[in-house]
Amino acid sequence: MSRLDSAIRRLQAQRACLDMAADLIRGLPGPVLEIGLGNGRTYDHLRSILPDRVIYVFDRRIDAHPDCVPPEDRLFVGDILETLPEALRRLGARAALAHVDIGDGDAVATRALVGRLAAPLAAIMAGGGTVVSDQPVPAGGWRVRELPEGVRGGRYHMYLCG
Ligand code: SAM
Repeated sequence: MSRLDSAIRRLQAQRACLDMAADLIRGLPGPVLEIGLGNGRTYDHLRSILPDRVIYVFDRRIDAHPDCVPPEDRLFVGDILETLPEALRRLGARAALAHVDIGDGDAVATRALVGRLAAPLAAIMAGGGTVVSDQPVPAGGWRVRELPEGVRGGRYHMYLCG
């Protein structure tokens, strides 16, 4: 498979998982967490499919497309391992959905970061919430959710929070 094919499939998987997650949380109140704003592509998608949800966004810097910069009061800027605990203090443990996309091209470092992120992320999620991630998230007490049709196992990851 060419790198172009692979990138397209990754983006299709990302969109399919976010669309499914939006349906899964329909009856569950609580904010959405976008962890890894990047250029704002998935943030823009989340706000279009979940127009009534409050979406909090996390990144170490804001470098998004100008149309996709979240409002100041919905931003947590800094290292995620520091801002997630701060968000828990401010918001409580009631996030209905979190999307984790914090890869920076170094697969080993990203996996290690997601490993450290698992516990603070589990702490902020509401019971019955959904986590969607480009990396496996090793959190105890979560169940792996079935992926949308057409998304190959391992390409994206979805969890039901306990
Ligand atoms: N979801 C974005 C999109 O669709 O446009 C892409 C996100 S990009 C792949 C990953 C982002 O994670 C980068 O903007 C990077 O700054 C952020 N990031 C990586 N490590 C981080 C950390 N330790 N704390 C906060 N943000 C981090």
